Amino acid sequence: MEVIHTVEWMKQVARQARADGRLTGLVPTMGALHAGHISLIEAARRDASPAIVSIFVNPKQFGPSEDYTKYPRDLEADRQKLEEAGVDFLFAPSVEEMYPTGFRTSVNVEGLADRLEGKIRPGHFRGVATVVLRLLEIVAPRFAYFGRKDAQQARIIRQMATDLALESEIVVCPIVREPDGVALSSRNRYLSPEERKAATVLYRALSRARRTIEEGEREAMRILALVRQELAEEPLASADYAEIIDADSFEPIMRLTRSCLVLLAARFGSTRLIDNMQVEIADSRGGTPSGVICNL
Ligand code: AMP
Repeated sequence: MEVIHTVEWMKQVARQARADGRLTGLVPTMGALHAGHISLIEAARRDASPAIVSIFVNPKQFGPSEDYTKYPRDLEADRQKLEEAGVDFLFAPSVEEMYPTGFRTSVNVEGLADRLEGKIRPGHFRGVATVVLRLLEIVAPRFAYFGRKDAQQARIIRQMATDLALESEIVVCPIVREPDGVALSSRNRYLSPEERKAATVLYRALSRARRTIEEGEREAMRILALVRQELAEEPLASADYAEIIDADSFEPIMRLTRSCLVLLAARFGSTRLIDNMQVEIADSRGGTPSGVICNL
């Protein structure tokens, strides 16, 4: 695996791969790699070659009181994991390389970026969209891989790719979880043992929603009441939001139809975690339990 630190060299390598007729796959990350990231890399290696992973802790997506300075960084450990995963190129630029002096552009995906996570973390998605567009412009991959763990982010990037007619296809991969249901996240390492145990409440709450939906419940308020009750029963969890939204518009819905998401965000001490479940309803007219798929 070759490690690349400059934008110019990354562009050059990616340009050469395209000229050779190869289909490049890019997995953007902030490092502190775990099995969730590796699942995206596996998807990239299935579809594409070369497989390129970027590691960049993007200052633009952290709020002033967020964990930018203490975000876990261990490039050497990450490099080894990527080597083992069969990655061809690691792109690890510095902040100055990504945002040279005088950098002024930002990308705002209107509407979608202002709600839920965007409301609690103002400017977060502007930072995400800006860095992702810059990475997609540098690498110009045929495929770019994102996790459904960050469902709103994935939706926003898809919208940006459509609106700006980007050449890269945005691929969204399933959530990878620990055996106890906790979604893998680089921030899980901030949790104390008690908080880590408490974090299972997110999965329990989503599982409760799944059971209710599979039994035929379609009223969002009733499902959310159960989810919020589950969250309230965990004393170490402080819920930020629990919402059921249309998977396309990201607007709250009253009744579950077609494709929607149950989205959760909660704090465990100073650590904020998010999780979600995707619900696909084949035919909601009869309100029957058949034709329902709940992807946790
Ligand atoms: P991050 O390094 O946290 O910015 O994440 C990089 C990519 O990995 C994003 O597209 C995330 O959605 C994805 N990701 C993070 N955690 C998981 C997980 N548990 N399962 C699947 N994808 C994930």
